[in-house]
Amino acid sequence: MRSLISSILFLLPSVFGLAQEQRCITSEKMHEQLLLDPSLAERRAAIEEFTQRWNTDNGAEREVISIPVVVHVVYRTETENISDEHIYSQLQVLNEDYRMTNADAANVPSVWDGVKADTEIEFCLAVRDPNGFPTTGITRTLTTVTNWNGSDNVKRSNQGGKDPWSVTKYLNIWVCNIGSGLLGFAYQPGVAASLDGLVIGYRYFGRDVPGLSSTYSKGRTSTHEIGHYFNLDHPWGTGASNPNCNQSDFVNDTPVQDEPNYGCQTFPHVTCDNGPNGDMFNNYMDYGDDDCLFFFTSGQKQRMLAALNGPRSSLKTSLGCVPTNVGIDEVSLSKRLSVYPNPADNLIHIAMENAMDRTFDVRMLNLMGAEVLLVRALDLNNASIAIDHLPSGLYILEVNTPTERASHRIHIIR
Ligand SMILES: [Zn+2]
Repeated sequence: MRSLISSILFLLPSVFGLAQEQRCITSEKMHEQLLLDPSLAERRAAIEEFTQRWNTDNGAEREVISIPVVVHVVYRTETENISDEHIYSQLQVLNEDYRMTNADAANVPSVWDGVKADTEIEFCLAVRDPNGFPTTGITRTLTTVTNWNGSDNVKRSNQGGKDPWSVTKYLNIWVCNIGSGLLGFAYQPGVAASLDGLVIGYRYFGRDVPGLSSTYSKGRTSTHEIGHYFNLDHPWGTGASNPNCNQSDFVNDTPVQDEPNYGCQTFPHVTCDNGPNGDMFNNYMDYGDDDCLFFFTSGQKQRMLAALNGPRSSLKTSLGCVPTNVGIDEVSLSKRLSVYPNPADNLIHIAMENAMDRTFDVRMLNLMGAEVLLVRALDLNNASIAIDHLPSGLYILEVNTPTERASHRIHIIR
């Protein structure tokens, strides 16, 4: 045990002693847990076996998966207490990057056009908390801790942090003064529930909002760390680098590379005999500047979907993004309502059994809970609503009367 502890002690100063910005310590955190928790290696091996088998067998139907997110802001100063808008900007980045609607996807070198992928994963700020009550999906905790130094204590209320919401039903993200120039870290599937989720420095969370680091102001730290959360590794493998070119990220369409790429490399950057195209340094799982990271690959998507059909499958049945309707009769109205087509393009048709001569209010909310459409006093004997002004994505359509409400998830895809 002494040797284990001394290796951990050896590891941590090398991680936290740096003054410069450091992109990610997920690999170090996973190694630390493997040393502390001998059963983790077995769980990781079982997950890897499942992943490889799922990748081979996969021919299953595809669906867009929506991940309920809770953001825990743990702050000591007002600067660290980032605004709701700041958080919305980060959710917007995640939904663009994971659906490949980010504008800079056009900058992916053309040699990788064939492998860049829409992961069909989306993110919503939770609207229902673990107890079934309405929520903004944001918690705020005042702390006396000045610098978390990369510690998991930010996940513990009794240590000045904030306890997680159920990690089987929510992606927990703690935003705090993470310390020592560190941008963020996550854990891959298999770790203890008390550790699961992301920790991101407040200067690296959100896009183009005041107070962000100049190099890392596009929200790509969270995009990268959620890749780890869905079981991705860095392109050079699970260590700090890959000088012998014999380590893998277990993904077939990402080239082997020898070490992290920083800044903005010029294409091609050949290492490990990976020419002519070289390192895939624009991949979200590399270490470049935020405005040089543009895409995931199909192989990475497969691996993430394996996680969502294996160790993280409980997220798919979470009610975290289904609005609550305390005291309102939701069930009977939903049963009588049909909403189609879904996915929809330019029009949504809504029809209701026994609508009679009543009218209904219909509204649509985006994943941040903002109202994007409201139609009052609609006749639901046979109604159509134009949605051609709304961007592609997942929405919640609500039909309301003073005493009833029905909610449907609607995908707009065009
Ligand atoms: Zn990383």
